[in-house]
Amino acid sequence: MMTVLITGAAGFLGSHLCDRFTKEGYHVIGMDNLITGRMSNLEHLMKLSNFEFHHHDVSKHIHIPGELDYILHFASPASPIDYLKIPIQTLKVGSLGIHNCLGLARVKQARVLIASTSEVYGDPVEHPQPETYFGNVNPVGPRGVYDEAKRFQEAMTMAYHTFHEIETRIARIFNTYGPRMRLNDGRVLPAFIGQALRGEDLTVFGDGSQTRSFCFVEDLVEGIYRLLHSDYTEPVNIGNPSEISISQFAEEIIKLTGTTQKVIYKDLPVDDPKQRRPDIRLAKSILDWEPKFSRAEGLKITYDYFKSLSKEELFKKDHMNFDNYIVR
Ligand code: UDP
Repeated sequence: MMTVLITGAAGFLGSHLCDRFTKEGYHVIGMDNLITGRMSNLEHLMKLSNFEFHHHDVSKHIHIPGELDYILHFASPASPIDYLKIPIQTLKVGSLGIHNCLGLARVKQARVLIASTSEVYGDPVEHPQPETYFGNVNPVGPRGVYDEAKRFQEAMTMAYHTFHEIETRIARIFNTYGPRMRLNDGRVLPAFIGQALRGEDLTVFGDGSQTRSFCFVEDLVEGIYRLLHSDYTEPVNIGNPSEISISQFAEEIIKLTGTTQKVIYKDLPVDDPKQRRPDIRLAKSILDWEPKFSRAEGLKITYDYFKSLSKEELFKKDHMNFDNYIVR
């Protein structure tokens, strides 16, 4: 049985990856410090004999006894609101965290796949974004802590690959959505659906002309699974190229939820990218992968998930667990 360590296991993407790898018959070690992750995302896996959970902060030395074949580094706050609240932790998990993962990979002779991001392209001047685009990032802006941590993470991963001959894979993940996203993490989809369910107006930032391209989580997981098992070591975009403006997206959510609330406009956050769409020609050619879920299908599944949440959950102000966070 192959063993895989998944960091950020209790988060949105991490938990879906745990689902997939346990289903595929791997022994899965899920690791999370539970600041933004939640055990409720993993509850259904805890009874499985091929799943174990380690409550640990990957920014500190990682100890795993026995053999390890793969490491998926998915630990990181991943929304602008989250990394503004915990900027230092965000920088640490992308730098010290990946260093620990790569050190562990060296000892275990394991293959590492890192969750990088479309944020490495910053506010992109080139559109859509191919992997060859170097980006337009403000290192000292509010997003800098995330963007630069992820850029450093790619550099560190490449260095271990070339210098220590570690097997590495780099996924550049574009906006992804689906069940288990945290309400109130600030991301646009849970924000809009949460607002619709609570009977609040939908808050569009700026004039809503900025674009994003949303990928359903199941498609993302399939892309990651294929990339891990490929022999390609350069970065690969994983995302859905179907692009939409945020104001159109708000209209789609209004239709989907049937809310009678309206759209209200708020200030655009600093350095908010004006446009984003992945060029996925590389993923298509080397992984034979492209998204299968239309936005309508994915949104319906996601809306059903949010509808099933309790009232208490829906009206909770913050879902981050600061008890698990110590600033150093
Ligand atoms: N956004 C919005 N209203 C909200 C939350 C976000 O209009 O309540 C906008 C945000 O300014 C950005 C887009 O939606 O232009 C996507 O934001 P998100 O935080 O989901 O992801 P990112 O900006 O990192 O792509």
